Amino acid sequence: MTPQPPVGHAPSAPTTAATPATPAASAALAGTPVAAVPDWVRCSRCRTLTYGKRFVRTLQVCPDCGWHARLDAPQRLAQLLDSGSAEPVTPRPTLHDPLTFVDLRPYPERLAAARRETGLPAAVQVAAGTIEGRPVVAAVMDFRFLGGSLGVAAGEAIATAAETALHRGIPLLLVTASGGARMQEGALSLMQMAKTSNALAALDEAGLLTVTLVTDPTYGGVAASFATLTDVIVAEPAARMGFAGPRVIAQTTRQELPPGFQTAEFLLKHGLVDDVRQRAELRAVLGRLLSVGAPPDGGPSASPGVGPCASPGADWAAAESDPVLRDPERLPARTAWQTVQLARNPGRPTALEHIGAWLDGFVELRGDRAGEDCRAIVGGVGRLDGLPVMVIGHQKGHTTAELVARNFGMSSPAGYRKVARLLRLAAKLGLPVVTLIDTPGADPGIEAERHGQAVAIAECIRLMGGLPVPVVAVVTGEGGSGGALALGVADRVLMCAGSTYSVISPEGCAAILWKAPHATVRAADALRLDPAALLRLGVVDGVIPEPDGGAHADPAAASELVRQAVVCAVRELRGVPARRLVDRRRERFRRFGLAAGTTAGTTAGTTAGTTAGTTAGTTAGTTAGPTVGTTAGKTAGPAAGPTAGPAPGPTAGTTAGEQTAGEQTAGEQQEVAP
Ligand SMILES: [Zn+2]
Repeated sequence: MTPQPPVGHAPSAPTTAATPATPAASAALAGTPVAAVPDWVRCSRCRTLTYGKRFVRTLQVCPDCGWHARLDAPQRLAQLLDSGSAEPVTPRPTLHDPLTFVDLRPYPERLAAARRETGLPAAVQVAAGTIEGRPVVAAVMDFRFLGGSLGVAAGEAIATAAETALHRGIPLLLVTASGGARMQEGALSLMQMAKTSNALAALDEAGLLTVTLVTDPTYGGVAASFATLTDVIVAEPAARMGFAGPRVIAQTTRQELPPGFQTAEFLLKHGLVDDVRQRAELRAVLGRLLSVGAPPDGGPSASPGVGPCASPGADWAAAESDPVLRDPERLPARTAWQTVQLARNPGRPTALEHIGAWLDGFVELRGDRAGEDCRAIVGGVGRLDGLPVMVIGHQKGHTTAELVARNFGMSSPAGYRKVARLLRLAAKLGLPVVTLIDTPGADPGIEAERHGQAVAIAECIRLMGGLPVPVVAVVTGEGGSGGALALGVADRVLMCAGSTYSVISPEGCAAILWKAPHATVRAADALRLDPAALLRLGVVDGVIPEPDGGAHADPAAASELVRQAVVCAVRELRGVPARRLVDRRRERFRRFGLAAGTTAGTTAGTTAGTTAGTTAGTTAGTTAGPTVGTTAGKTAGPAAGPTAGPAPGPTAGTTAGEQTAGEQTAGEQQEVAP
């Protein structure tokens, strides 16, 4: 963790072609010197000369090649914060030279020189202000100050920024630029990684959004602590981030590094940052993020489940009418196989098209933070009729090229780990979750197995079951097996009239049980995978109608119907306390498979003889046994059944006759169903 000087093809600071100075920007903080931009600036990448005033107008981005020149902290604050909004935040005093360190020069001399050259007391400048009107505390690193190295003063500044955000109940923005920990302060420098990480954890516990803007370069102890611990990481184009610097890696491994190694684009592809954005877009993107991550009144965030989701007021979407059908008899008369074909029609609206049609200010969040970004899963935050929400879905495509790029909507383990990350973020911020399910199944490949596909799906299922926020799932196309259920453990489970939801594809079922591919149509029927059958089974709570001919015939109208259904479901759920949501959700799934007349419920305080025990014996009349895990010890909410929720679907108990078809094959299918 030594400071990493600029390496590789790193652009150096803008070169001066003439001496007279042009102010870079108005100072964000009174009394802070703002470095001037020279009359002419030569691009370090393409060598083009740009007139200084023009260079300022382009936010110090080369108009010819897009190279993003380094900004110092005062310039950055001036660019990001709303004009006139910044107020300085002053960290506590720290030790100046804790080791009395001397190398070629005494450390105090180096410090004094850095202070003189930058006009700053330390490598981090902190200010509270607003971005697009949204309050934020910003801590900005200045690479000019001893390579932005993380010394005790810098660590204290980051921690102070986090504590100020906590105290004020507003989000935190970190702008990183650093070579790593500061050698001249020894182990005390190393300890700043823990100090800053703990400060960020307190914001997680308080449900406050944290965002990093990664700028070039961000290395070592900064990358391995606060820079990558935030909820959302946005990077500037070509900004490099990593633990070890490329020169160290190349020398250690004696290998040539791949092109673009550790750049923002490389990090995006490998799931380590959420987004790469041009400097000109940053204020807008950050503003959108802050709008979903902060309580609307700027006050302290409430507990999860009643935070921002309580924001637009009790009359939110009051005028919206619910298109959902709950009577199977009212659904279009189709064979199961006809529905299968509709569900697979490549003209159906995709998750991103639904999101584009209904959400304002959507910011896609990418990556599993562990080395991969699966393109078969998309997700992010935005506003649904003004209400901040998290939307996550399987993404397919319309053309072969699009389908291939999205792996036909078949997620890898990295995709499910991204889902889990976004679910946790929604829980932290109190955002209702909407999932859009459309997958033939999870990716069944060798790599997927090697990276723990089963583990990743299981984790999503458990997480969704316990999420302290409203969850609405919509099967918009194919609801294929465990890969679909990983997004399906919701308070309200809806499906489009032209969609299916099944433990296995009809083809797979026919091949395994009938041992004949031509039995596919019969298998589709037998599996009861169509909306009417699933409504009768209680697996879905309602069916969203589609335009005549199916969703592909009029995608915009189809998407609008889904939006209305989702809005009405969220409206119904958002007033419900988090604990009650979770209890009811677990209850909903607890009921499945019970024989008619049997009530699944919590064991505590309920009358004898009415509760269900383990589900291991699926035969009727099972006597009560120990309740496993999740709902034990909870005080009983409303008993399961028609009175459990404000909008009851059909109960599981009414459909005993339907159950046998599923049960008799379950054991065999689980061996093989993807
Ligand atoms: Zn250039």
